Amino acid sequence: MRRLPHERERLAGAKARLDRLDLYDVPASLARVRVLVEPRLFRVPGFRRYHGYSFWRTIVVRDENASSDLLTHEVCHVWQAQRRPIAQLWAWVRHSYRSNPFEREARAAVGATRDYHRHVDDAHKTRLARNEDLFRQVNEKIEDLATRHGDDAHIYEFFCECSDMDCSERVCLTLGDYEHVRDNPARFVVVKGHELPEIEHVIERAEDHVLIEKHGRAGEVAIKLDVDAES
Ligand SMILES: [Zn+2]
Ligand SMILES: [Zn+2]
Repeated sequence: MRRLPHERERLAGAKARLDRLDLYDVPASLARVRVLVEPRLFRVPGFRRYHGYSFWRTIVVRDENASSDLLTHEVCHVWQAQRRPIAQLWAWVRHSYRSNPFEREARAAVGATRDYHRHVDDAHKTRLARNEDLFRQVNEKIEDLATRHGDDAHIYEFFCECSDMDCSERVCLTLGDYEHVRDNPARFVVVKGHELPEIEHVIERAEDHVLIEKHGRAGEVAIKLDVDAES
């Protein structure tokens, strides 16, 4: 039998969802929990209705695409077995599948945490976009000073507008080049290699820097921050 690819990370993701519920006095433990991929199990009569099954500390899934929802459901059953093994076994004898309180608990746990990833993701992306906005504000000051005092051909040092708060690298641009970046509020200039594919894509590549544009949630935040700054 094969182990599920990225088993530990995927189990940890499922546990993080359950931990967040705070329903349980004792959190689930992933010690010695393993996930096997075994499509043949689900061809056995009685198992056909399932996509995953847990036996004590072993979770068996139908295929490698086991979703976060499925793993969260099964880790909930593992946790039930860790905590109330006899009651869990007894419930399977006494109740039908859907009315089994342990089954209902696992379903409720999945439902209550379904937005978790999206939520964490959005918060993370919002923070990254805000970091970049700070550098943009500094660069706009530089631009402002340069416009009043400098000439067009002069090369100025602008701060890298990447999402790393600790980055203090510089990007060398003429005023015209920088204004071209600023034409679009979702665009930023960063040192080559400082782009983050999860929130932005590259629009133009120069020798030492790249022009990036944010997509999705980060793009919306960037545009909103820009509008707020101007109003
Ligand atoms: Zn179940
Ligand atoms: Zn940087």
